[in-house]
Amino acid sequence: MIRLESVTKAFVLGRDNVKVLNDISLSIEEGEFAAIMGPSGSGKSTLMNIIGCLDKPTTGTYFIEGENVSNYSDKELAHVRNKAIGFVFQQFHLLPRLTALKNVELPMIYAGISKQERRMRAEEALRKVGLEDRMDHLPNALSGGQKQRVAIARAIVNKPKLILADEPTGALDSKTSMDIMEQFRELNKEGVTIIVVTHEPEVAEYANRTIMVRDGMIQASATFNGGRIS
Ligand code: ATP
Ligand code: MG
Repeated sequence: MIRLESVTKAFVLGRDNVKVLNDISLSIEEGEFAAIMGPSGSGKSTLMNIIGCLDKPTTGTYFIEGENVSNYSDKELAHVRNKAIGFVFQQFHLLPRLTALKNVELPMIYAGISKQERRMRAEEALRKVGLEDRMDHLPNALSGGQKQRVAIARAIVNKPKLILADEPTGALDSKTSMDIMEQFRELNKEGVTIIVVTHEPEVAEYANRTIMVRDGMIQASATFNGGRIS
């Protein structure tokens, strides 16, 4: 599904060149459910931005579905994103003046899908996350967990093969966090590859693989198959 080969990422800050990712090599197969953990500032979000085609490596190579996208233009990256990837963020990133339904329709507007089909697919996605009776609510009238469900519905509406979630439960209490992780588990069972960044061990337990990042490097990676660590 994705493969990074010796990826580095450096940011220019004034006269300094700060290396944030340092020689990351990583493969994630289709159907995996991976958790990325590590200290604050270790480079997790920077790594997710590269995986999500929101940013490019400084050096190294990134393949998504066999396609080398390392040197793609911003426009080409946007195309890959819209086609293949759904995003979920800690702060939900819903538009406050749009209803749940309209928020979910947004990615399909960018994809040029007809109004009728947009509505049908947005309703289906909202039903899937259990929000059939909240479609016409504005985000302010929803709980944190419900907002995150809307964000998940928005992430799945274009039927992506890959979902990237950067601390999706960071703003939620622990019970609601588990509800949200159950949603991801369901999607993963249907074959969607999921990568979640989290600080919380009980959230990471939903994954079948944990990748530890420290100082811009992969410190450890463990896969759990029915209790076996390989
Ligand atoms: P957290 O757990 O706090 O979210 P993180 O592991 O996601 O942390 P990143 O956001 O990837 O960490 O940041 C890693 C390092 O890169 C930090 O030192 C940060 O200041 C730096 N950094 C991130 N983005 C930029 C940028 N656009 N320009 C300059 N430095 C950046
Ligand atoms: Mg982060």
